[in-house]
Amino acid sequence: MAASSSTIFDSILAGDIPCERIFEDEHVLAFLDIQPLSRGHVLLIPKQRAAKLHELDEAHAAALGRALPRLARAVMQVSGCEDYNVLQNNGAPAHQAVMHVHFHIIPKCAHKGLELIWNTENLKDGPELGSAIRAALA
Ligand code: 5GP
Repeated sequence: MAASSSTIFDSILAGDIPCERIFEDEHVLAFLDIQPLSRGHVLLIPKQRAAKLHELDEAHAAALGRALPRLARAVMQVSGCEDYNVLQNNGAPAHQAVMHVHFHIIPKCAHKGLELIWNTENLKDGPELGSAIRAALA
């Protein structure tokens, strides 16, 4: 798999670009989003350089999973919002602007926070599709 290109998050990880750091361990860094959708909007990134979620190794993926609920609790406490979105975009058509894996934690209070258009359709081929994805997992 091709190595990911450098992004602004590499400069943040290196300390070359300032950010408001919230949490850091061996594998991840969390900091405040510079253009928040609501007060308390936090980004969580792996220290591994990878553009998309599926490219992460197990250690970084696990560290992200460990940090997310802990960060969510802190963001809820400080923002005073009981509701929030965790957003993780993969690829420009999926609204990813910075090509380094990141999770948004976005408090949802009153009218502040993430707005979504959710264009659903009815599931048509559940058994076939489920079977294909199970086979791909194996
Ligand atoms: P994406 O659309 O890729 O999921 O979101 C990228 C996020 O990174 C945006 O919410 C944007 O505000 C944030 N961001 C981009 N550059 C910087 C930066 O230099 N510092 C911080 N703190 N956040 C940034």
